[in-house]
Amino acid sequence: MSLEAETKSVVAQFDFTDEQVNQGVKEFIRQMEEGLEKDGTSLSQIPTYVTAVPNGTEKGLYMAVDLGGTNFRVCSIKLNGDSTFNLAYSKVAIPKELMVAKKASDLFAFLAREIKHFLQQHHGDHFEQHSRRRMTSSSPDGYKDEHVFRMGFTFSFPVQQIGINKGYLIRWTKGFDVPDAIGKDVCALLQEEIDKLHLPVKVAALVNDTVGTLMARSYTSPGKTGAILGAIFGTGTNGAYVEKLSKLKKPLAGEYDNSTGEMVINTEWGSFDNQLNVLPNTKWDDALDKSSVNPGVQMYEKRVSGMFLGEILRLVLVDLIKDPKISLFRDENSNSNDWHSTTTIAQNSGIYRQWGLDTSIMSVAAADNTPELSILRQELETVLQIYAPSLEDAQAFKAIANAIGRRAARLSAVAIAAIVLHSGKLSDPAYKDEPIDIGVDGSLVEHYPYFRDMIFEALRAVEGIGEEGAKRIRIGIAKDGSGVGAALIALIAAGMESKSAAATAATGKKTNSQFIEELRSEARSKDIPMFTIKREDSEKAETTTDE
Ligand code: ADP
Ligand code: MG
Repeated sequence: MSLEAETKSVVAQFDFTDEQVNQGVKEFIRQMEEGLEKDGTSLSQIPTYVTAVPNGTEKGLYMAVDLGGTNFRVCSIKLNGDSTFNLAYSKVAIPKELMVAKKASDLFAFLAREIKHFLQQHHGDHFEQHSRRRMTSSSPDGYKDEHVFRMGFTFSFPVQQIGINKGYLIRWTKGFDVPDAIGKDVCALLQEEIDKLHLPVKVAALVNDTVGTLMARSYTSPGKTGAILGAIFGTGTNGAYVEKLSKLKKPLAGEYDNSTGEMVINTEWGSFDNQLNVLPNTKWDDALDKSSVNPGVQMYEKRVSGMFLGEILRLVLVDLIKDPKISLFRDENSNSNDWHSTTTIAQNSGIYRQWGLDTSIMSVAAADNTPELSILRQELETVLQIYAPSLEDAQAFKAIANAIGRRAARLSAVAIAAIVLHSGKLSDPAYKDEPIDIGVDGSLVEHYPYFRDMIFEALRAVEGIGEEGAKRIRIGIAKDGSGVGAALIALIAAGMESKSAAATAATGKKTNSQFIEELRSEARSKDIPMFTIKREDSEKAETTTDE
């Protein structure tokens, strides 16, 4: 078969028709509902204990920290109450030795020291004032509760959350291994170390990045109603949405504020349809899954997110390269190769290595509309060490990459459509003149050309949405989602604190501030080992977002 014909056949295998989109949406809603009823289902539907979304009028100064896979970010965010904010942040790479520290306290003490450094750097006045007051005060730390920074803690590892600032670490991922921390409340681990340094900071909320995205978007997006969904399309994919408490049938372990009648649910939709009822499954999807570290799980994520799209493409290309009847990246093309040189693939090319093809080159392929595809061909040389590819090679690469990217966007539309339909907002009178707003974050949705357009194309084909419904859906990037979102959740938590403090005072139980005081008085300073670190500090003012 010619390369062109073979390419067409491959592209066809990545088709995801309107009919399949509709089947997918129905199944997604079914699996969402199943997850609200019981544990152990494909969609975990984890309650987050966040029961309200912001509307842009929130005000105040909050802190946020984000422990990702590689970096630790500390920021303070001043919410101005008019959908704008000012943000100061510092970012530091987590020392490798701490990722595998013997004791949890070694890692968390490092985080606390970074928070202290940040406070000195960016809030020197506040910090000094409190240090002085502490010296002269008779109470253990001498902080007035209202002067304590409320902090949101974005922690992107699996935790079993049982309260707005309480969650037990289930397991480490992404190269971390601190066995001592497993099963412990990560908020308490951090608070303990903060208290040892006598910092005026309270870990007020534990935050998942999807929830942060939802919060950040709700705060910054114009309009009366908040976002209904926050979604990540980056290394992985996941979404958190606003659910009615009445639909949450499975038991909730912790305390929460039920006055809004709603709660944000973290779907963990990466594992949608692990049973492959409706997900497409080419032989390359199958091969990717089989050789992954977690075969049979995260099946939706393996067809949608940045970590996997490049690998699917790589597996297709390797099959074509190996086929003697097809001439891809081979010199038979050189009579028509306008670059007049021999096509070669370097032995160490990423194309021959698992995970060796980064999804970002697919964005380059999609964006290159030059007649000779010279930008893509250059990129194939510099990134993949495929030298002097012909125009036909590049055309095949682009067509297959686009088919995989397009399928991913249409699959993304399945989750989005399901949540929009399940919410009932399209027919809700409160939303009559308001857009159905969705906040997104992640390099894939941010940088892949036309990703959102392809999502909309699929949304228009969904029964119950259609042309009219799709016009009312707005999908916008949530800028600085992890910082702003965590700050907003800290604000919500602070509101809950005062309510529950009033309630506990009435019933004679301990108030939260008593609890903090006690925690503090328990803590003792001790010598802490130092590590060499590189830090990046910055301060910026944010106005509003895109559209
Ligand atoms: P994280 O998920 O860790 O927060 P990102 O949102 O930046 O990080 O997502 C990183 C993922 O996005 C990687 O899998 C990478 O391959 C992919 N990616 C990075 N840049 C691009 C791009 N320009 N186009 C498409 N995918 C990209
Ligand atoms: Mg991210």
